[in-house]
Amino acid sequence: MKPDPTPTPSAAARNDFIRDIVRADLAAGKHGGRVATRFPPEPNGYLHIGHAKSICLNFGVARELAGLCNLRMDDTNPETEDLEYVEAIQDDVRWLGFEWDGMFYASDYFEPLYDVAAQLVRDGKAYVDELSEDEIRAYRGTITEPGRESPWRDRPAAESLALLERMRRGKLPDGSCVLRARIDMAAENMKMRDPLLYRIRRDAEHYRRGREWPIYPLYDFAHGLSDAFEGITHSLCTLEFENNRELYDWLLAAARIPDPPQQIEFARLVLNYTVLSKRKLLQLVEEGLVAGWDDPRMPTLRGLRRRGYTPEAIRAFCDAIGVTKAQTVVDVAHLEHAVRDDLNAKAPRVLAVLRPLRVVVESWPEGRVETLDAPSFPREIPRDESRPLPFERELYIERDDFAEAPPKGYKRLAPGRRVRLRHAYVVECREVVKDAAGEVVELRCVHDPASLDPGADAGKVAGTIHWVPASRALPAEVRLYDRLFSDPEPDGGKSGPDFRAFLNPDSLRVVEGALVEPSLAGARPGDRFQFERHGYFAVDPEATAERLVFNRIVPLRDTWTKRAVEGEAPTIAAAPAAEKGIEKAEKEIAVEDVAPTARDRFLRFRDELGLLPHEARTVAEDEARSRLLEEATAARAAPRAAAAWITNDLVRELRARDLAAPPFGGAALAELIALVETGEATTTAAREVFAAMVAGEGAPRAIVEARGLGALAGESALAPHVESVLAAHPAQVEAYRAGKTALLGFFVGQVMKATGGRADAAAVRELVTKLLG
Ligand code: ATP
Ligand code: MG
Repeated sequence: MKPDPTPTPSAAARNDFIRDIVRADLAAGKHGGRVATRFPPEPNGYLHIGHAKSICLNFGVARELAGLCNLRMDDTNPETEDLEYVEAIQDDVRWLGFEWDGMFYASDYFEPLYDVAAQLVRDGKAYVDELSEDEIRAYRGTITEPGRESPWRDRPAAESLALLERMRRGKLPDGSCVLRARIDMAAENMKMRDPLLYRIRRDAEHYRRGREWPIYPLYDFAHGLSDAFEGITHSLCTLEFENNRELYDWLLAAARIPDPPQQIEFARLVLNYTVLSKRKLLQLVEEGLVAGWDDPRMPTLRGLRRRGYTPEAIRAFCDAIGVTKAQTVVDVAHLEHAVRDDLNAKAPRVLAVLRPLRVVVESWPEGRVETLDAPSFPREIPRDESRPLPFERELYIERDDFAEAPPKGYKRLAPGRRVRLRHAYVVECREVVKDAAGEVVELRCVHDPASLDPGADAGKVAGTIHWVPASRALPAEVRLYDRLFSDPEPDGGKSGPDFRAFLNPDSLRVVEGALVEPSLAGARPGDRFQFERHGYFAVDPEATAERLVFNRIVPLRDTWTKRAVEGEAPTIAAAPAAEKGIEKAEKEIAVEDVAPTARDRFLRFRDELGLLPHEARTVAEDEARSRLLEEATAARAAPRAAAAWITNDLVRELRARDLAAPPFGGAALAELIALVETGEATTTAAREVFAAMVAGEGAPRAIVEARGLGALAGESALAPHVESVLAAHPAQVEAYRAGKTALLGFFVGQVMKATGGRADAAAVRELVTKLLG
């Protein structure tokens, strides 16, 4: 492993239970003093920020402890894998800053894996079973009941071996039999109840092996042995595989692997406001809800990279969250903080005006241009680059930086007030020019010639604002990206099981007609800047020399925590403040943590109704909430859906209205949940209905009707909204028709926004596609 090219101050301080184990093993001389890890993605999708955690851990451990780390394609499933993904994965790992010692493919191990399987059969440790997969499932038993042995379990080894060979030669049809390990059908650990090792897939075409192999090994069989073949010492994986460890060890022992690797599990990365399942990310791409795997709103490494994230920021984020066994939810604000922190020292400051308002400096002679020298970094950053900034008679400032009737505390320009133009003069507003409609179109100002020297006494100024010179500014398209989901838990947990209902309609706002300072003329895709007072921006790959396009990486401050606190966007639950360190949103709750009088209920809710521990506690400790849950469940609502409404929306709505209990019972809640389940109301609409229920407006269905909140699904219901969105965006329509079909997501988003989230996204998508031909 090559040394860390960019040692960070925290590198020495990386400490976690996995590194402790590896160091202790090294000290004890285990594995002959070797350390070898691997990162084993399945090439069926692009890597996301969760994978980055695993990459930083596996490569990081090897790098720090003079070990080796392999990249292994875990490609034993012919249905979904593809070379395109293999190449993207390699590229992404390198971009993150890591280089593998060995590049391997589990599909190269099909021969040695088969040899091990045959050996297990000969040893009486595996058998060919002719039960169907359904029967096998039924024979498996439950957590409380032992399984039953297959009638084929004790057939002679020679018979199994002959069948296995026929499987391998493609003589037996799919589903006719499987190879199973012969372990213990009564094992407490269900994974040990004679798990499947091989399956027949006669007609599958593997992206590397073609049709060479009619049988495919299952994950548990292939994974541990692949580790063993590569001499891996520590096989790091996520917590879902905890129960698989016993099987991992059993298989390696049965295969008589000397010095077997050791599996250690850690908590996977779960980020709020984010979906990290490859299947769901694929769905977003396929349904056109985003522009592709590299859409800057995607949590894929491709997306983050196009957005403008740096590999350093992602590595710093992974360092900051650390590695533990406790499953927690990490606030996405930490990721945003990491990129701000990294870019603060790297991104030159520039001036960009997103919504221009013309300013004429009447005291400045026509045609005169003064080239100012503007520092590119603030004083606290030890870099002394600067760029020329031309000042002239006509300028543009931000429309928001002027108010005709300024509110109290307004620190910008207003009639008769003075502001400093960043790196330039102090100007005073003398006259406001309006058009026929009464809209302000121009400001007439005078400048103070003595005010250029920042040390000089410039008199009273309201504040400092940014600007660009009118004749030399460059036009730019600015894409203001925001979180893709407006709900902290888009991925289940809430009543609406469909994560797509939580898409943030404002996750992309395109600002056309922005102006940036002339020094940006040579900016190249990937270059990053701080637009002063706006945030960090990166040049998009679609930018050309004629047309600059900037993506907002992140605004300067975390606006989400503030929004949630002020209740501006009531559907957004308060995210833990970025400064508080990593919050444990879901820390383990034991019975002892629950109020004594509520413990029985807590246990019932957790163990019988299947609520998460923290939900079970929140409901159990309150009589009214408990009653509501019981009634809703009795009225056939899914317990977790009911609990989600009670613990989130109910608690918030009651507090907002200063009520102790809701004016409705569990049956009404069940009715609401049913409306969402049947698709009669979207989750967004259901939230509004719920608030109205708390306000005493009656039963859910009646509120849906009274307020016109029914989901818009049919073509006739959707058409007016879709048509008006298309009419309002002629430029995008034209671009779409010219082949920029990635704009589909944009149109769908606009319709979702126009309908207040009431439209059925899939139906909108279909209709847009149809109307645009
Ligand atoms: P998904 O559920 O999104 O399909 P996966 O686990 O199936 O993810 P793989 O390609 O098999 O994806 O993952 C490769 C490696 O990355 C595995 O070791 C896996 O444990 C790890 N990994 C995947 N997701 C996360 C995550 N969210 N946090 C940490 N590690 C992860
Ligand atoms: Mg996997």
